[in-house]
Amino acid sequence: MNAVPQSPFGFAPQRTPANAQLNLNVRSLAPSATLAVNEHSARLQQAGKQVYRLGLGQSPFPVPDVVVQALRDNAHQKDYLPVKGLPALREAVAGYHQRVNAVAGGGEDVLIGPGSKELMFILQLVYYGDLLVPAPSWVSYTPQASIIGRQVHWITTQRDHGWRLQPAELDALCRGDPTRPRLLILNYPSNPLGVSYDDDQLAALAAVAQRYGVIVLSDEIYGELYHQGQHRSIARHYPEGTIISSGLSKWAGAGGWRLGTFLFPPALRWLQEAMAVVASETFTTTSAPIQYAVVRAYQGGPEIGAYLHHSRRILRALGGAVVEQLAAAGIQVAEPEGGFYLFPDFTAQKDSLAERGIHTSPQLCEGLLRERGVATLPGSDFGRPADELSFRLADVDFDGSEALKAAAHQGRIDRAFLNKYCGRVMAASAAIADWAT
Ligand code: GLU
Repeated sequence: MNAVPQSPFGFAPQRTPANAQLNLNVRSLAPSATLAVNEHSARLQQAGKQVYRLGLGQSPFPVPDVVVQALRDNAHQKDYLPVKGLPALREAVAGYHQRVNAVAGGGEDVLIGPGSKELMFILQLVYYGDLLVPAPSWVSYTPQASIIGRQVHWITTQRDHGWRLQPAELDALCRGDPTRPRLLILNYPSNPLGVSYDDDQLAALAAVAQRYGVIVLSDEIYGELYHQGQHRSIARHYPEGTIISSGLSKWAGAGGWRLGTFLFPPALRWLQEAMAVVASETFTTTSAPIQYAVVRAYQGGPEIGAYLHHSRRILRALGGAVVEQLAAAGIQVAEPEGGFYLFPDFTAQKDSLAERGIHTSPQLCEGLLRERGVATLPGSDFGRPADELSFRLADVDFDGSEALKAAAHQGRIDRAFLNKYCGRVMAASAAIADWAT
C-alpha cells in the first residue's frame, strides 16, 4: 500500500542516491505530520511571523500540581525499573480502569511504556495481522503499520453517521475472509473528529469484532476529556478481545513526560509478554522518576477531579463556540463531544476556493497558514481523499493554566470568558471563517 503523504503539507521525501540504502518501508515516509507542523509553526514564530498554533494536539493545561510535586519528590529515583513498569504504577493504572471504566484487571494486566505511541508500534510489530482503521483516524497508526510492513485497510465512514464506524462496515470487511488475523484501532473521543460512541454503538461494534475474532486496540487517550464526563469503553462489551490504550499526555497535560499504558485481558497475555520481550530489547524501561510520580495521577482524588471537571467545561464551551463561528460562515463541522479537535469541511465552499487555486486539503492548509497565519492539518493526513476539503483544527492555543484558575471561579463559561482566556483560538476560528467566505 502507498503511505499517506505527511505534512506540512502533503510533502513526501524524494528518492535520492543518498537514501537509496534505506529500508524500503521507511524511504517513502516523512516525519509525522503532527510533529512536523509543530516544528514548522515554531520556526515561523521565531522568524517573527504571527502563527495561531492549531496544528499539534497538545493539551493546553498544566500537569496537576499534586503530580508535579510527586515528580519533585521522586527526582532522585535512578534505578532501572522492571520492563513492564513499576509495580505500584501498574496497580494504580488497573485500579483506575476499574474505578473509572468499570473494566476488571489487576496490575499484572498492565504494560507501561514511553508513550502509548511506542506501545502501539510494538503491538503492531508483534501481532501478525492486518490493520483496520476508520477514515479519518490519527496520523500515526498507518505509518507505523507501513514501517513494519503490515497490510492496512482504511474503512471509509460517512458524514450521515457522524463519521462513526458502523458495525455493517466492519462486517463487510471481515466477511470475505472471516478467520484472517486483524487488529482494529478504534479511537474515541476521536482524533481528529472530536466525536465519540455511545454504549449501544460500542456494543454493536463489539459484537462484530467478537464474531470475527478481531483484536480491538481501543485508543481511549481522550476518554477523560469526554465533555460530559461519562466515557465508556468497548472493553465492557468485548473484554476478552480488547486492549485499552491510554496515557498521561492528554488528560494530565503531560505529553512531554512520555508515559503510556496498555491494559490487556488475560486472554491476550501472550501479546503482552511478546511486547515485553521487544520492550526489553529496545526502550528497556520507562523513565523512573516519571513512573513514580504518575502513581499519584492514577490515584485520583479531589484535586485531580476538579482539574478534570474544569478542563472539560472549558473544552466543551470552546468547541461549541468554534463550531458556532464556523457554522455561521456556512462551514460544515460536527459538534465535538470530547477532546480538543474539530474536523471542518469546506465542501460547500469548493467552487469559490477552486477559483483561488485551492483544490486539495494540503493546499487549503497552506493557504490558511500563509494568508491568515493559522496552522492546521489537512484531512489527507488522516486518511481522507486529498480532494476532500477537510482539515483538523486543535483548539489548544491558549494558556490553560490561566483558564483553569479563572474557570474555578466562573459560573457559566460564556463568550466573554472565551474571548478573554482562549482569545487566540477564537481569533483563529474567526480568521478561518472569514478566509473561507
Ligand atoms: N496526538 C497528538 C496529535 O494528534 C500529537 C502527538 C503525536 O502525534 O505524537 O496532534
